[in-house]
Formats: sequence, structure tokens, C-alpha cells
Amino acid sequence: MSHQLPEHPDWLWRTPDPKRSYDVIIVGAGGHGLATAYYLARNHGITNVAVLERGWLAGGNMARNTTIIRSNYLCEESAALYEHALKLWEVLPQELEYDFLFSQRGVLNLAHTLQDVREGTRRVNANRLGGVDAEWLDADQVRAFCPIVNTSPDVRYPVLGATLQPRAGIAKHDHVAWALARKADQYGVDLIQGCEVTGFLREGDRVVGVRTSRGPISAGRVALAAAGHSSVLADLAGLRLPVQSHPLQALVSELLEPVHPTVVMSNHVHVYVSQAHKGELVMGAGVDSYNGYGQRGSFHQIEHQMAAALELFPIFARAHVLRTWGGIVDVTPDASPIIGPTPIENLYLNCGWGTGGFKATPASGWVYAHTIATGEPHPLNAPFALERFTTGALIDEHGAAAVAH
Ligand SMILES: Cc1cc2nc3c(=O)[nH]c(=O)nc-3n(C[C@H](O)[C@H](O)[C@H](O)COP(=O)(O)OP(=O)(O)OC[C@H]3O[C@@H](n4cnc5c(N)ncnc54)[C@H](O)[C@@H]3O)c2cc1C
Repeated sequence: MSHQLPEHPDWLWRTPDPKRSYDVIIVGAGGHGLATAYYLARNHGITNVAVLERGWLAGGNMARNTTIIRSNYLCEESAALYEHALKLWEVLPQELEYDFLFSQRGVLNLAHTLQDVREGTRRVNANRLGGVDAEWLDADQVRAFCPIVNTSPDVRYPVLGATLQPRAGIAKHDHVAWALARKADQYGVDLIQGCEVTGFLREGDRVVGVRTSRGPISAGRVALAAAGHSSVLADLAGLRLPVQSHPLQALVSELLEPVHPTVVMSNHVHVYVSQAHKGELVMGAGVDSYNGYGQRGSFHQIEHQMAAALELFPIFARAHVLRTWGGIVDVTPDASPIIGPTPIENLYLNCGWGTGGFKATPASGWVYAHTIATGEPHPLNAPFALERFTTGALIDEHGAAAVAH
């Protein structure tokens, strides 16, 4: 498989043509926007599409996330959506002809209290009933699966067991973005960078295009995929969303020899750690608790996540931090996304993935493309409609999404 880019990609700074009208404009060239463009073309034959990005291609959360992919969520609706994504991840490297280093090395969610054990075993049972691979490991089995985790009973929060999803893992995020972008480009989709959407063109109650920093562009349908900025954009269209923007940070160590065979997450001490293909330890934690749009967070969050990492992995005591960074994620009250049509005709919404939308990228694109193409939600995203915040049919994933991801 090749992962060479075209030598002179002519879409890099393509200028929008004011006389052209697109069938679909997608706002945001992160993973979800690119996957949506790809599946609009692949599954529905819709190629008169532009993806507008205010910065550079996949320079938002897509380039900043820690790439954990898993589908072991608690609720049927979420497990079905994320499992669809996991099945797509399993075929996408071949389909996109791009080896984006998808590595199914398993994910452990550690349990440190009786309540963690109850939550974990409940989720394993729910996952199995829903056809998602899931196992419960006791502390000895955790040690056998990941020998560098400290399973001593003499620590503040001893490891009592863990859930394991063997098919879960990581991938290389920037390669995923390039792979989707390249295929979308080959289908004829316009990828336009440096083009910020600043408003909407309206005819009565209908959206008929967007205002941008590079002029107005008309479109049959406008689909938002602007993670972290969804509520700001929706506000420009007169729509109030139950979404808040928070900074979310991560960090990597210097490059080390392979020491960490899997992905370990702990809601309780609040950290998760994997080792990237190049060798960096990749660590993250929860969101910074305040709202904000700066792509950075506060230092105390990093201090806490480092302390938690050392508690779980004393072997990392001499590793050095190489780099820290932050992204902006949009968080909903039930820790589940919103995907579907909006009350405004021709305006579609895909947001609220919070700390865990990377893993969903292909399924998000798949169901969003279906919704935009047909005007009706796909069965997998029907439960994730905006209306659930008025009907009360929430999909509460705080337990399965708690430490983030
Ligand atoms: C530190 C960190 C770690 C994470 N770790 C994980 C993880 O391990 N696993 C996981 O599943 N998820 C993880 N996530 C979450 C995941 O990255 C996001 O949920 C997902 O990337 C969001 O979808 P996206 O890729 O389309 O977003 P983005 O890549 O953020 O795309 C949105 C794009 O919209 C653009 N945009 C915004 N406003 C406008 C405008 N007005 N006009 C034009 N363009 C605009 C932005 O510039 C941006 O490029 C993490 C996130 C962060 C920040």
C-alpha cells in the first residue's frame, strides 16, 4: 500500500468560484468533514461538494487527538454506532489504499473500586449482548496482558480488574486525514483551505449557502462538521445548541523503545496511555473544566495526568515530556454526539463528540452522508437527534466516556 501524496495537490489553496453552486458544502475539514465528503461520493454518488476549512486541512482536533479507537460503550445506540466505525476502520486501509497504521492492540479500562468493577462488568455484559467483543480481566490477567501496569495491592488505588476490548487500538491520525482527503479529491470534491465560514445565506427559512472570509458560496445543503466551534456557527444561523466548548490536552514523551503493548485507560486516577508507532508515550486525561476556544489548556491538568501516569506505570519515572498541546472539543450534557437535520431547512448538524470522536470518524461520515443525501437520518444516527434534549431520550455515556475517549 502506498501513502504518497500527489506531488502538487492543486486543492491546497483552491479559490472558491463565486459563480459555482455546490450540492453540498461541508464546514470543517477535520476527520468528520472529510469522511462525510468521502462517503457522499462513494455511497451516494454526490461529488459536487466543497469542504471549507478556516485553517489548514485537519489542523484541528483531527491532528491533536490521541487516536484511541474502541467501540465498548454502554448504551445500545452508541455501541452500534462505534462498532460500525470499528468495522469500517478494519477495511479502510485497503479501501483508501493508504496504510494509516491501524493497530488493534486492545484497550484496557482499569477498575480501582468496587463501583468501577460493577460498571466494568455491566459494560462487558452489555457489549457482549450487543455483539461487541469484550472481556473482563482480574488483576493477574491485567498483569499478564500488560506487565508494566503496577498491580501491587499497596498503592492508593489498587487495580482490581479491567475491561478488555481486544479489537480496539490506535491509528495514525494525520495519515487517516490525508487518506480520506486524497480519495475525496479523486472523486472530484473541492477541499478549500483558509476559508472561514462567517455566516449563512438565507432565503426565508432555508439556508442556500454560506458567507466566508473569501466571499459568499451558494449550496443546496450546508453540513456543519466544525468540532469545538459548533455552537458558534449554529448561533450564526439562529440555532442554540446544548453544547459547550472545552480545551482538551494531551502530551507525548520522548521516543522510547517499545515498552507498552496495549492502551490503558483509568477513569479513576484519570489518565490514559498508549505508545505510538514511533515510540512516544501518548498520554491524556479529561477536559479542562472551563469553557474556552484557545487550543491550549492549563498546566495543573498536565501535572495531575503525569502524577496519575506515574502511579499506574512507575517504569515511566525517568521519561521526559517532549510536547504538550490542546484542542477544543464540544461537549453535550449526555456525553453523546448530535447528528442529523436541524429545524432550519437544508442545514445539517454533526457535533458534540466531546473527547471521543476520532474513533467514530468513518461511521460519523457514513451516517452523516446518508442523512445529507436522503434528508433522513440513518438508523444508526436517528437516536442522536437534536430533539432528544427536548424529549428527554438522552444517551448517557458518562460512565463509558468518562476519562475521555
Ligand atoms: C487532546 C485530544 C485528544 C483526543 N483523543 C481522542 C482519542 O483518543 N480518541 C477519540 O476517539 N477521540 C479523541 N479526541 C476527540 C476527537 O479528536 C474529536 O472528537 C474529533 O476529531 C472531532 O471531529 P473532527 O475530526 O471533524 O474535528 P476537527 O479536526 O476539529 O475538525 C473541525 C474543523 O472545523 C474547522 N472550523 C471551525 N470553525 C470553522 C469555520 N467557521 N469555518 C470553516 N472551518 C471551521 C476547524 O478549523 C477544524 O479543522 C481527542 C481530542 C483532543 C483535543
